[in-house]
Amino acid sequence: MTVKVAINGYGTIGKRVADAVLKQKDMELVGVTKTKPNYEAKLASGMGIKVYASLAENIKLFDAAGMRIAGSLEDLLNQADIVVDCTPGKVGATYKPLYERHRLKAIFQGGEKHEVAGFSFNAVCNYKGAIGRDFVRVVSCNTTGLCRSLYALDKAFGIKKARVVLVRRGADPAEDSKGPINSIVPDPVTIPSHHGPDVQKVLPHIDITTTALAVPETLMHVHILNVELQKDATEQDIIGAFSSYPRIRLVASADGISSTSGIIEYARDLGRIRYDLPELIIWKESIRSFGREIYLTQAVHQESIVVPEDIDAIRAMTKLTESPEESMRLTNESLGLGR
Ligand code: NAD
Repeated sequence: MTVKVAINGYGTIGKRVADAVLKQKDMELVGVTKTKPNYEAKLASGMGIKVYASLAENIKLFDAAGMRIAGSLEDLLNQADIVVDCTPGKVGATYKPLYERHRLKAIFQGGEKHEVAGFSFNAVCNYKGAIGRDFVRVVSCNTTGLCRSLYALDKAFGIKKARVVLVRRGADPAEDSKGPINSIVPDPVTIPSHHGPDVQKVLPHIDITTTALAVPETLMHVHILNVELQKDATEQDIIGAFSSYPRIRLVASADGISSTSGIIEYARDLGRIRYDLPELIIWKESIRSFGREIYLTQAVHQESIVVPEDIDAIRAMTKLTESPEESMRLTNESLGLGR
């Protein structure tokens, strides 16, 4: 069986999910939408991806640019089994009635509220809960990173409580108009930031409080975790626990990967397209145990970490497989994760 996937919104996340769908043997990319005929629309079209106009009133812009498009968003939705909404935060929710009218399953991203889908997803944590669902929200980049490490720690040792400081990139690399340029912004100044409550949408039993700062950086987010476990764990125990998850990659500062720019250089040297690293990165030397109380520092490549989760959400919702392990194995292999 092959599932027909449409992508509404072909920006940072949409173009990466589109590339990942193209790599799945059990999925077919029926098309993507663009609001305007910019270079991304032209590149997609040049790669043989069918481009549709998301806003009917903008079709004339594509005509004026001499770009042949395949039709409107509604034309695209008519051909799909599922739509991955990758429009900007809060815009996805406005499309839900349209997806419902087309009787389409839809995946929303972390910029939407949990209530838009009623189910917040992370593959390793709650794949089975998404099986057959019509609406799912793949949680944000920061929440995805936290879910991966906290799930692994909780499985191995049990978590009594987690206290986390997030240092958030101010904007994505191409977002010239956003982000602090010469400032560190408590984001928000109140505690908790939305990340802790968001983790609890996926892992409701975890006692977690988060606080966040936005900094003038575009490459990655960094999180400092202080976790109280339910039983003692040595640094080696913790490294052992993380090692069995292909979507967690341990790196060593001693190897010269000592900063976010070092991680991105590593991704480039691995030959990753767009220097994407969908794996959660954890610095080995940052893992410190004081018996039940542990510390670690992790880094999140915000532009790509959610991509494998979107692919697994498609498999769960369309019942391509009901096995989380099988879906994650297929996704990891196709995207080269864990290698
Ligand atoms: P983006 O701005 O890079 O891309 C959004 C795309 O949607 C653009 O191509 C834009 O032209 C298009 N668009 C704008 N208005 C539209 C409309 N009305 N209808 C259809 N398309 C429209 O945004 P992004 O960073 O890819 O974010 C998409 C979603 O993913 C958001 O919910 C965001 O919170 C979430 N997310 C982003 C990141 C990240 O770091 N960029 C990480 C994880 C999750």
